[in-house]
Amino acid sequence: MVDKVVILGSTGSIGRQSVEVCRRLGIKAAALTTNKNIGLLMEQIKVLRPEYVSAFDKDASERLRAELEGTGVTVGPPGEAGLIEAASLEGADCVVTAVSGAVGLRPTLAAIEAKKRIALANKETLVCAGTVVMRRARETGAEIVPVDSEHSAIFQCLSGRAGELRRILLTGSGGPFRGWSREQTAGVTPEQAVKHPNWSMGAKISVDSATMMNKGLEFIEAMHLFSARPEDIEVLIHPESVVHSAVELVDGTVIAQLGVPDMALPIQYALTWPERCESASARLDMTALSGLHFLKPDYEKLPCLALAMDCAKRGGTAPAVLSAANEAAVALFLARRLGYNEIYDCVAAALGSIDFIAEPSLEDILAADTAARAFVRERIS
Ligand code: NDP
Ligand code: MG
Repeated sequence: MVDKVVILGSTGSIGRQSVEVCRRLGIKAAALTTNKNIGLLMEQIKVLRPEYVSAFDKDASERLRAELEGTGVTVGPPGEAGLIEAASLEGADCVVTAVSGAVGLRPTLAAIEAKKRIALANKETLVCAGTVVMRRARETGAEIVPVDSEHSAIFQCLSGRAGELRRILLTGSGGPFRGWSREQTAGVTPEQAVKHPNWSMGAKISVDSATMMNKGLEFIEAMHLFSARPEDIEVLIHPESVVHSAVELVDGTVIAQLGVPDMALPIQYALTWPERCESASARLDMTALSGLHFLKPDYEKLPCLALAMDCAKRGGTAPAVLSAANEAAVALFLARRLGYNEIYDCVAAALGSIDFIAEPSLEDILAADTAARAFVRERIS
């Protein structure tokens, strides 16, 4: 089990659950960070007593500094600098990356340089720069343990089975609009899109789950985490969200990980691995299940998934453009400045217009990310 963690994005959905898991297991916190939610951060400071905190937002950072004056808690700078300082703090042995979006990239790299275990929730980091991130992790020896439920499942299924993998079976519920046509999804509102049938999550990933872009991002995440080729991964629609994913081994054996849909479990496993311990999660009652269903995705009705899988095959800067354009488009959709179907339209247009680099450096990836965001903003204005 890890001893002392840094939680980047402690006030979000994964962050809040990480704080609770740490409190229950007696894991200490070196640092917590937020974007703007100072109220909740102050509550969390009372619970985990970190020595360092930061807020990304400038005004929030000033308020935080005023709140903590004289308490001995160090308040780091706003922006990326505060995240990077937190991620590299001496004394912590693990960084939970629970921020949403590509803002997690540089802090994750900083944590890898400092040889921390990465409990990785922030999938956008691997999508945009998985090759660079995994290479540096191999070189420094930093452990990357997935928090995303599917990847935690695959990680658990593969434990002790190096070299035996034939195929990854990546499951996804299909989201709230499973089976809907483009005509039917045209009027979908942010309120409808963030209401996931099985999981309670942050706004961005909830929209991604509705469009199934999330499964596409996870497809790319799985390629990097498990050194898999696109042809080694099959996406399966599994509406019940009980089988969190499975692996097929060389002899045809299939091993799956099952459980209730509760992110506290994969968060806890990333912190206790390679051990396991008691959890507070509900138990799975197999006799209460009415059935488990697995369907091939209808790619015509899931264009974001198809687009992401195409980017996975193209590699280079394509996944970075996909992820950044999607982030920008989803933010505009949540702000009611873009229709639901236009999320796909924006991302596809960005991919069609931004120069492709096959073997990008980190700088090329960051430039592609910036260009994709600018493209989406200009298209809308
Ligand atoms: P949330 O939106 O709920 O939380 C994001 C956290 O990051 C909050 O603490 C937020 O602060 C902070 N934050 C937001 N923007 C910035 C920024 N620009 N700079 C610094 N910090 C920022 O997200 P989730 O917890 O849902 O998701 C986090 C990550 O985990 C995502 O990458 C997601 O894909 C992944 N994930 C999430 C799952 C889930 O169940 N939620 C499941 C699997 C993966 P503030 O509170 O002020 O907004
Ligand atoms: Mg997931």
